[in-house]
Order: sequence, then C-alpha cells, then structure tokens
Amino acid sequence: FIYLFNSNITLGKNGVPVAENFQLEQSTIADTVQVGQVRVKTLYLSVDPYMRCRMNEDTGSDYLRPWQLSEVADGGGIGVVEESQHHNLAKGDFVTSFTWPWQTAAILDGDSLQKLEPQLVNGRLSYFLGAAGITGLTALLGIREKGHVAAGANQTMVVSGAAGACGSLAGQIGRLEGCSRVVGIAGTDEKCSILVQEMGFDAAINYKKGDVAKQLRELCPGGVDVYFDNVGGDISDTVISQMNQNSHIILCGQISQYNKDVPYPPPLPPDIEKIQKERNITRERFLVLNYMDKQEASVLQLCQWIQEGKLKVRETVVEGLANIGAAFQSMMNGGNIGKQIVSI
Ligand code: NAP
Repeated sequence: FIYLFNSNITLGKNGVPVAENFQLEQSTIADTVQVGQVRVKTLYLSVDPYMRCRMNEDTGSDYLRPWQLSEVADGGGIGVVEESQHHNLAKGDFVTSFTWPWQTAAILDGDSLQKLEPQLVNGRLSYFLGAAGITGLTALLGIREKGHVAAGANQTMVVSGAAGACGSLAGQIGRLEGCSRVVGIAGTDEKCSILVQEMGFDAAINYKKGDVAKQLRELCPGGVDVYFDNVGGDISDTVISQMNQNSHIILCGQISQYNKDVPYPPPLPPDIEKIQKERNITRERFLVLNYMDKQEASVLQLCQWIQEGKLKVRETVVEGLANIGAAFQSMMNGGNIGKQIVSI
C-alpha cells in the first residue's frame, strides 16, 4: 500500500490540513532488487509539523522539498531489511531514513539508510524517530547550541508546546543540563499533569484556560532566563514579555503560525521586538540539520539518559498506514502526548 499526497484544494497557503489531503492506494513494487538496493518492510513512520510546509508549493525553506500532487509522501521512517543487494546491509537489519516513502514495503537505495542498534533503546525501535532521533537531537542540541544553560546559574526555563515530542524532552534536558526551574505550557490539563508528575517539570500552564501572563508571573517569580519556543504567536509574546535582561530564546519552531502565509521565522509584533532588543534577548534561528556532525555523540547521550531512566519518553501511537493522514492532522491539533508515531 502507498500513501499519496493527494490534493491541496482544501488547503491553500492559509489552510488547515485535513486527512483528505492524502489518499491510500494499492500498488506493486519491482520484483528484483538491484545492486546497491534493499527491499524493506516499513515498521514505523513519523508525522511532524514541518510536513505542513511541504504541503505548500513554496515550502519557505531550501532544505524542504514540497510534496508533489499524486506522488507518494515521505518523511522519517524505520523498517526492516527483507532482501539486500547492499554490501553493508543484511536481511533482518533495522534501518532508518529521513525520506522514507509512506509505503508498507519499498525498494530503497542502501546508501540512503542508516543502520539502527535496537539495544541502545531497550528494543523500543520507534524511539529512533523521537527521543533517540531527530526530536531528541532537536531538544538537546537546541539547548546546548542556543540556550546558554549553565549548571549552578539558577536559571528558569520555560517550554511552550511542552507536552509534545520536542517540548517534553526539552524541559527534562533543561533540568539535566542545570536549569533550576522548568515550567511548561501545553494545551490540556492532562498534559500539564503528566509534565509535572511524570516528567519532573516544576509547574505547567494550560494555555487554553485562564490568564497565561498572570500564571507565568506567579510561577517564574525571578523572570525567564531561557525560553524553548515551539509555538510562536501569542504564547511566545507573553513569555518574551517576562524574559530577563541578556536571556535566550531557543527558536525551535512556530507551530501556531504554520497554517498561515507568513515568512519563517515570523517577525515579532513591534512592542515585543522592542522588549527583545532592549533586554538583549537572543532569538537566533535554530535548525537541527545544521548540527549533524554532533549526531552520533548526541544520540548516545540521549540513549544513555533513556536507559538510566533520566529521560521519560511518551509516545502516541496510531496503527496502520491508512490512518497516517489522520495522525498528522491530530498531531497538528494537539491530539498527541509525546511523539506521534504511526505503526505500520
Ligand atoms: P509536537 O510538539 O509533538 O506536536 C505539535 C504540538 O503543537 C501539538 O501537540 C499541540 O499541543 C501544539 N500546538 C498545535 N497548534 C498550536 C497552537 N496554535 N498554539 C500552541 N500550541 C500548538 O511536535 P514536534 O515534532 O515536537 O515539534 C515541535 C516544534 O518543534 C514544531 O514547531 C516543529 O516545527 C519544531 N521542530 C524544529 C526543529 C528544528 O530543527 N528547529 C526540528 C524538529 C521540530 P497543545 O495541545 O499543547 O496545543
């Protein structure tokens, strides 16, 4: 089975994605595996916010190729090799790629795949799409490259999109790297209680209830030193207003703006930009793909924390290729806690 990017008729640059933007079809793959290729069975696929940008003709980023109408969609995936004509891959190997086709089976170029070691994640293979993959790397390297976190410096970190894949890890890693106080912002009471009770956040704010600015002032009495920003928009404007002199924004993502036709990163409103400049708050664009030289060592660090129980991992798993469009739509609307995974 293959999953096609079907139509942007109901989408447009300012539209909200729906499951019907995709379509499941039955197809066949080639009978023979050529030299250098492998035949794989797909095990897990990832749905991620950046895919919303791939639904536009102009993705707004050089590194993101738009999905083409009536072509198979692709993204992060994991599978098992069933037949190999590649010198470094054998039947039974688990492999991953950032450009895995949304198909139940495929013939892929062996050079495009990375071999996985399941024992690093206690056999939880799907973690390589989340906590031990790009998501974990984004949280860890975002904090290390842009957060200026220093152990013993008594820093307060705020994380938006805190119960999502990146956010739930970012708060925990902020604490592991030395922040003394970590406060999350998320969209439901259930998410907030998981952040505090399971993931060790000091407090969490449900941004859909009550006055976020007031709660933030109460929960961060010394102001905000590091802000891990996954969402942008009003939530971020509120956080930035409470940031300290010489503090730092980790500009990870701006999901509240992805359905809108605005440039990336979206400019701040003038009054918030004034605060940012006057307080010398850094807000540099962060892209995890620029730090792939640190991938290997960072994945090992993440796996070690997972094995030691220092990094708690949550996943929301949807079964079946037929449901991947719905899983994407749900994740964009906050239906996930931790990493949204599709099990094939
Ligand atoms: P995720 O957080 O697991 O899922 C998205 C979450 O965003 C939803 O669960 C929802 O949670 C929240 N959300 C949706 N619309 C929102 C809105 N209008 N306002 C506030 N929150 C909203 O996704 P993820 O994969 O971890 O990605 C998180 C962010 O990191 C995204 O912005 C993504 O683009 C970015 N990212 C950046 C890099 C990089 O290299 N810079 C790499 C990977 C990901 P609620 O229930 O809380 O609303």
